[in-house]
Amino acid sequence: MTIRIPLIAGNWKMFQTCDEAVDVATNLVRLVGDAKDREVMIAPPYTALFPVAKVLKESPVLLGAQNLFWKKEGAYTGEISAAMLASAGCCYVIIGHSERRQYFNETDETVNRRLQAAIKGSLIPVLCVGESEKERNDGKTFSVLDKQIKIGLKDFFAKDLEKLVVAYEPVWAIGTGKTATSSQAQEAHEFLRLLLKKGFGTRIAEETRILYGGSVKPENIVELMSMRDVDGALVGGASLEVDSFTEIIKRTSETKR
Ligand code: PEP
Repeated sequence: MTIRIPLIAGNWKMFQTCDEAVDVATNLVRLVGDAKDREVMIAPPYTALFPVAKVLKESPVLLGAQNLFWKKEGAYTGEISAAMLASAGCCYVIIGHSERRQYFNETDETVNRRLQAAIKGSLIPVLCVGESEKERNDGKTFSVLDKQIKIGLKDFFAKDLEKLVVAYEPVWAIGTGKTATSSQAQEAHEFLRLLLKKGFGTRIAEETRILYGGSVKPENIVELMSMRDVDGALVGGASLEVDSFTEIIKRTSETKR
């Protein structure tokens, strides 16, 4: 049986100045310990990446970014490349977050280009997918996920996706306090794993970690993690506060897999 090491990832969105981010990261490193049974990643805003990387240097907590642009360099004001993120200390990058899709017109096609740049730049992508409330109510959850995965991962081969992480984040659950039930999450994760199997074979499907994201809190992480295909969480709001994030991490470690 394949063992997938759970990943708990914190998306800090557009919160935290450099000083605030360093402060939270310092406390996190102090409290989180060095358990081998799960991985922890934080994705601060761009300005805080380098100072936070210094704090994380000797710790097991990994650094991620919240997005990237697919070009290597050039006259693209306001954008950031894979190489720049790697040089700041990142090993992960979140791609296709619903807030990027919703407010910055990102599409499955641009998600695909960003994924290509991330993989080429040796960053581990966390590909976010998920349906809106209307899509769920209209019975379109699976067809939305199917399209996001098919176009997002178009032209990739299994060998490109060895480290890929997928995050199922129903849009209606992000920042709303409305978490998906564990069975809703399991059903979507199982479907995503099936899509990976059809597209890239059994090994990739079995080894890919599929995180759940959407109002994860210390109170619901154990129930979510008890599901067979839930391999961790992408945490927004609750990752900004060191106590709640540490509690989520601790409870993940305690979850029987
Ligand atoms: C997110 O930003 O990916 C997220 C899941 O946010 P929250 O945990 O606040 O719902």
